[in-house]
Amino acid sequence: MSRFTARDLGHDVIRIEGQGAVGMYLVIGEKKAVLLDTALGANNIREYVQTLTDRPVEVYLTHGHLDHAGGMYWFDEVHMSHKDLGMLKGNSKQDRIDYLNLIRSIAGNSEWTEDDVCDVRDISVVDIADGEVIDLGGRTLTAIDFSGHTRGSMAFYDDRSGYLFVGDCCNNSTFLFLEDSTSLTHYLESLKRIKEEWMPKVSHMVICHDYDFVPADCIDNVAECCRLVLEGKDDQETFVHPNPMFAGMPVRWAKKGGADRTDGKFGNIAYNYKKVN
Ligand SMILES: [Zn+2]
Repeated sequence: MSRFTARDLGHDVIRIEGQGAVGMYLVIGEKKAVLLDTALGANNIREYVQTLTDRPVEVYLTHGHLDHAGGMYWFDEVHMSHKDLGMLKGNSKQDRIDYLNLIRSIAGNSEWTEDDVCDVRDISVVDIADGEVIDLGGRTLTAIDFSGHTRGSMAFYDDRSGYLFVGDCCNNSTFLFLEDSTSLTHYLESLKRIKEEWMPKVSHMVICHDYDFVPADCIDNVAECCRLVLEGKDDQETFVHPNPMFAGMPVRWAKKGGADRTDGKFGNIAYNYKKVN
């Protein structure tokens, strides 16, 4: 029995889930398919995607975090912004096992053993350029700089479905306090650019954690959070998270309720209140 599940999102787009509470997306064209993200590397995602399509599969990563990039070592070549290359040092096999154990302790998910987690090995990591067009045959994906959550974060626009795959760049729990995050001011510029240049064409914004499609106004709500924080007018709610890695960090939510806002709107940011710029 497979340790992955697949769900059809229409337009030959499949959401795949395995271990680690994160979704990956397979976009299938006439000539080839693209896998967006690889999860943590527990169980062989390369073999699994080959059961979903007979096209050759290329791998593009939204960013370098271990829960998106960790499975890259199942492949010989992946594409990722080189601005996130330095983050890969935090993606050792032990780092990923520790994270998988954390998820297991929260979610009770246990369909992996340490032997199922891919080892770090020397593979080709090809840089992604802003505006790069990937021709899959009958459809294209365009890579878009969406720096904020990390310096190398990329979104991908699919011209057939109108889906905008945003990784962790913009969601109900957008982490902007991490060592590899940009300033809020920089991130707000990314949001404005995406809003103006891409959102008129987008049918659905697609994220990786907890949800696939999210409400179209998510990008406006997240931009509003950034503006309020920069003006010192946000809710300044204390950030509490089950990941012990974040314990004691100077982090706040912009809006009350965290990932599940009390005002019912979708989209929030967690930021470092000692470094608001
Ligand atoms: Zn991330």
